[in-house]
Amino acid sequence: MDPADIPGLPEGVPDFLRESGIEALYPPQAEAVDAGVTEGESLVASVPTASGKTLISELAMLSSVERGGKALYVVPLRALASEKKAEFERWSDFDVEVGISTGNYESSEEWLSSRDIVVATSEKVDSLVRNGAPWIEDLTCVVADEVHLVDDPNRGPTLEVTLAKLRRINPGLQVVALSATVDNADEVADWLDAALVKSDWRPVDLRTGVHYGGAITFDDDSQREVPVGRGERPTAALVDDTLDEDGSSLVFVNSRRNAEAAARRLADVTADHLTDDERAELDDIADEVRDVSDTETSDDLAAVVRKGAAFHHAGLAAEHRSLVEDAFRDRLLKAICATPTLAAGVNTPSRRVIVRDWRRYDGEFGGMKPLETLEVHQMFGRAGRPGLDPYGEAVLLANDHDTMDELFDRYVNADPEPVQSKLAREPAMRTHLLATVSSGFARTREGLLDFLDRTLYATQTADTTRLESVVDSTLEYLVANDFVERDGDEITATSLGHTVSRLYLDPMSAAEIVDGLRDADDPTPLGLYHLVCRTPDMYELYLKSGDRETYTELCYERETELLGRVPSEFEEVRFEEWLSALKTAKLLEDWAREVDEDRLTDRYGVGPGDIRGKVDTAEWLLGAAERLATDLELDCVVAVREAKKRVEYGVRDELLDLAGVRGVGRKRARRLFEAGVESRADLREAEKPAVLGALRGRRKTAERVLENAGRRDPSMDEVDADEETAGANDGDADAAAPSATGDQQASLGDFE
Ligand code: ADP
Repeated sequence: MDPADIPGLPEGVPDFLRESGIEALYPPQAEAVDAGVTEGESLVASVPTASGKTLISELAMLSSVERGGKALYVVPLRALASEKKAEFERWSDFDVEVGISTGNYESSEEWLSSRDIVVATSEKVDSLVRNGAPWIEDLTCVVADEVHLVDDPNRGPTLEVTLAKLRRINPGLQVVALSATVDNADEVADWLDAALVKSDWRPVDLRTGVHYGGAITFDDDSQREVPVGRGERPTAALVDDTLDEDGSSLVFVNSRRNAEAAARRLADVTADHLTDDERAELDDIADEVRDVSDTETSDDLAAVVRKGAAFHHAGLAAEHRSLVEDAFRDRLLKAICATPTLAAGVNTPSRRVIVRDWRRYDGEFGGMKPLETLEVHQMFGRAGRPGLDPYGEAVLLANDHDTMDELFDRYVNADPEPVQSKLAREPAMRTHLLATVSSGFARTREGLLDFLDRTLYATQTADTTRLESVVDSTLEYLVANDFVERDGDEITATSLGHTVSRLYLDPMSAAEIVDGLRDADDPTPLGLYHLVCRTPDMYELYLKSGDRETYTELCYERETELLGRVPSEFEEVRFEEWLSALKTAKLLEDWAREVDEDRLTDRYGVGPGDIRGKVDTAEWLLGAAERLATDLELDCVVAVREAKKRVEYGVRDELLDLAGVRGVGRKRARRLFEAGVESRADLREAEKPAVLGALRGRRKTAERVLENAGRRDPSMDEVDADEETAGANDGDADAAAPSATGDQQASLGDFE
């Protein structure tokens, strides 16, 4: 189909598409247009990775906006939101304004009402609905990206309920759901009352197979020799072999550590294939990578990038990720070792995909668990760059014949698992029933059941008694914890219940926090951090070998600070969780005591992205705790607020005022403080040379900081830095000697 034949688009879009290389629609895209996707019809598109699903959704959104409407694009991961926004901004020439909803929960972000397309995660949309964002009622088109994730036990139910609510609020809403290829996509389409486009079509041919004994055997029984030398690893041999044909490789492994280790080894392979020009360009990129943050991760990544390889996982900073992805697309990087997060959504096709690890550690499973077929197929889907590669190859690795057979059965010749609603799981029910009652979607048990009838769960379950019994037991829990009240048939949320729902807390987290705070007269930060870390809303750090002893000891040492009763060591699971929460709390305490980011990554075995994640979550939960304490008129409100601020800025008490000035951040605040500039007010009066010295002679930074502190004459023209203050150390509480980090600001806590 020619772009000019697509009905309903703003004028000029077909030409624009042609100019950006889209001469004709891909067959699944043409099917979607035939099904009316640009004329307001709902659609489920179940097509392989990299087959142009994004364009289907763009056509739907553009035509909806052209008809005077407003579109919402729901992404599965926060990291993908800004990527999608950047992608959609190309439509600004057609007067289409794109906004991203990233703000804190518990706000309705009214400014988004002026945007034509809004990008947000399903959690965010759910919270916007709970907080009654008025523009939600204006939506005419909703896109659900990777809708097969309704299957995810943790996050799936939110997507499911959110779609159900949006459809209830806007009865004529167009829903466009994009899915990987799954067998029961028709059930999803049934649920959404949508047309179905189901296709196996791919823009580049894909061959899948297993490497074993010096050759790859493909699904069509053909073979390709890829001998493995003595002492050589099969992955290295495969990457080398791809490079012989000038192709790049994407290697999927099962942990961050493995991704980093594999990248280090593969860098020796890729380094041999670089031209001088490529080496020079990679040197520049490596410098940029190193400058992203002052951590070992930055250094390690830069070191491999210089040699033409990289690792990619959720522990990287966003800037790292985009540098790596761009360099790979520009064909400068020859191999990326990634954890599967990359397979979900990021568009980085490569000639060959190598799935090195097909099992992953799973705590609930109690050992190494094989990956789902769907997940492996999505990794496969990254093989083959349209227009560049004649075909893509996806390869699994086996080291014996039985494993090869198993891999063929499990992944190469297998269909992915069907998508199954997980809504009936308890934590999901708890959260969503409270929200549904609180926002007035249902006021009786029957009303709740009626609402739930619009979910995928109901579409898939003939037996309604199970749903009824889960609803009943959940309601009991909510009543027992004072979140809802029942009066005859009528169910209403209590004031506490309303607050919890708007704060976007799992009711169980709220119950835990309320219990803990009621107990606390004068809580310490560690006590509060531990309290929020043991709620189901915080992903705790794992205990590694030796940690059990360390944290058991710490637990008894600081028992008086912990809020609530320490579980007995005989209650093994609970005790273990208690310690994991303590480890996480200790990380937050260290962070709020100004321990260097680098030292934290070492001490806790995490990446800088993880610290950011814990800090953000703690800030949110402590903010929620503060609200709950205020509503319940508890004495600990101030202590909670301070603990929250200290986590937010990563500083000790005395720096809170300074660190709150934009552009200052934790390290600069400490250096200013050491130089005698102790508060925002001091910044307005201080001697300029002292300020400039403390900021290591950076004039622009100093001017910006003074301006943000409200100084009238921020100019640093002709000011010389005070030598003495320039020599002050970074004040890392843990460092015995002045830290050698020099002028590098940690990327955390410096919000510039
Ligand atoms: P998916 O979302 O299905 O994984 P994408 O939408 O990211 O796949 O598309 C993969 C690539 O294909 C993108 O780079 C996109 O620009 C390109 N593409 C999409 N549709 C067409 C088309 N009709 N012709 C040429 N290229 C296309």
